[in-house]
Parts: sequence; C-alpha cells; structure tokens
Amino acid sequence: MDKKIISVVVPCYNESEALPYFFEALDKVISSMQEFDFEAIYIDDGSKDETLNILRERAAKDCKTRYVSFSRNFGKEAGMLAGLKESKGDFVCIMDADLQDPPALLPQMMRILTDKKCDSVATRRGNRKGEPVVRSFFAKCFYKLINRISKIEMVPGARDYRLMTRRMVDSVLSLTEYNRFSKGIFSWVGFKTEWLCYENVKRVAGKTKWSFWGLFKYSLECIVAFSTAPLALSSLCGFLMFFLSVIGAIAIIIRKLVDTASSINGWSSLICVILFVGGLQLLCVGILGQYLSKTYMETKNRPQYIIAETEKDNPNEEIK
Ligand code: UDP
Ligand code: MG
Repeated sequence: MDKKIISVVVPCYNESEALPYFFEALDKVISSMQEFDFEAIYIDDGSKDETLNILRERAAKDCKTRYVSFSRNFGKEAGMLAGLKESKGDFVCIMDADLQDPPALLPQMMRILTDKKCDSVATRRGNRKGEPVVRSFFAKCFYKLINRISKIEMVPGARDYRLMTRRMVDSVLSLTEYNRFSKGIFSWVGFKTEWLCYENVKRVAGKTKWSFWGLFKYSLECIVAFSTAPLALSSLCGFLMFFLSVIGAIAIIIRKLVDTASSINGWSSLICVILFVGGLQLLCVGILGQYLSKTYMETKNRPQYIIAETEKDNPNEEIK
C-alpha cells in the first residue's frame, strides 16, 4: 500500500536565523515517522533577508522541500492560504518557522487524529509565559469579546499550528474571502477537532513580526469578519438616543406648561449632550465604515497574494 503523505506548510518572513534550527527539528520528526511520506512547503512572504536563498538551497538538496516566494509581504494569512493551496498531501500541518510550534508534537497529533477519528488536531498554549503583560491582557479581553458576539467558538491561546485531513483542507479552501482570519475559518468549517495543550515556547531565533498595533488591527479584522454585532450595537445606541430625546422633549414641554414663568436654561449640559451624540454618531459611522471597507476589498476580487518564484522556477541543476 502507498504511504500517506503529510504536507507541512511553513510561512516564513525574515526567518533566516530560525530556519536552520527548523530544518533540523523537522528532519528529526520526518525520520521518526517512517510510515508517512512528507512534503514541506515553505512560503517566503517577501522576506528581506536571506530566507529565500536558504529555501532555494534546501530545495536543491532535498526533493521533499518545495517553496513559494511572494512578490512582496502579504502577511501570514496569505502565506498559510498559499501553502494549503499548494499542498498535495492526505494530511496537512501548518507550523511556524520559529519552533514556537514544536514539530516534535507532530507524531502525537497524528496519533490523536487516527485514534479519535477526527478531521483536525489543533494546538493551544497552556500559558502565555514570556509574553508582555499588556499583550496577554488584551488577548484575554479579545477572546472574551469575540466569543460573546460571534457564533463561532474561538479558543483562547489557540495557535495556527494544526494537523488537518484533506477534506477539511478542501473545505477551508472553499472559502474564498479576501480578508482571512484562519482561526475563525477553521472553526467555521466545522468537523471534529481535538485540542492539544502545550507549554508556551520562546522563539528559537530572530524577532516576532507582530507589533501591538498589528495585533490590534488583526483582532478588528476578526471581529468584522465573524460578527455583525457592532452593527447591531450602533443601531441600538441610535435607538436609545432617540428614545431618550423623545422623553427629554416631553419633559421640557410639560415643564413649560406647568411653570410658564421659567425659561429653559442649562447651555453647558446642552453642549455636553451635543458632543455626546456627535461622538456616538461618528463611532457608528466608523463601525459602518469598517464593514464597508471590508466589503469594498472583497468586491475588488483581488488575489490574496502574488507568486514570484517557486522551486519549479529554480531547477536543482542550476544551483548544483
Ligand atoms: N509570518 C509571515 N508573514 C508575516 C509575519 C509572520 O509569514 O507577515 C510568519 C513568521 O515567519 C512565522 C509565523 O508567521 O513563521 C509567526 O510569526 P511570529 O513568530 O512573528 O508571530 P508570533 O509567534 O510572535 O505570534
Ligand atoms: Mg512566533
């Protein structure tokens, strides 16, 4: 019987320092899983360092290594999508290049997948050790919020590191949206998922690509992609303001009728109300704008990434 193939998808952005360690760790895992064939697909996400050269060299030496190089940096989401599209395996595993998703967990994930007969084994960090306190705090708030306002379940501390069956990968690929938030998409497509918890590991070399602002924008993207609650909230605010203003107007009329001598005063409070309502309106327009801008990007139908080079453009002979 033919061996089943596992495709390992690795998004890489400026990972020249981490890649040698990653190759070593992956090779170890591959040799410990002789019952499977492997293909490793590295996605060079427009790196500015030596990442692409390292991948070219590796692909020249090892026929199981494939790579896709983007024309510029398109982000990790685009990288994962490209990897899933390129993958040919019966199982696909996405993992980071910095060893924060330890490849050594793969045999255990495969065991769970076959024993529990599920379509996906996902991983989550048991703790956030080594992460800035402010970042952990906002991450916790974000998960609480999104789980409350969205129908899909977002598991706190979930990583993108997961092993999937081909039918799950095909379902993920059937979602063609431009603004992608993979953790949400994996949850949205359904299928039985088992969770594996592991201790947070520090990145082996190099620096994280995520700034606080980047993470903030990413979380907004998730909220807009998987919930329309903010829109409902802005309508609710509008309705409440309308209701309050009607009550206010009635109160003023009654007061005028009862006490004809008094003039209505209180300019400062009036200004406060005007500013409050103005602010609220801007907030609601802003929320609307978020959805509109996402819809705008979707209707443009642009590709999520552009490929500049793959291992096929760089045949082994040229380098040897
Ligand atoms: N990555 C990428 N494109 C980007 C940013 C990151 O392909 O624009 C890759 C990166 O090379 C790494 C993975 O995504 O393999 C996770 O990135 P990072 O370690 O910086 O994120 P963190 O682990 O700090 O969340
Ligand atoms: Mg990392």
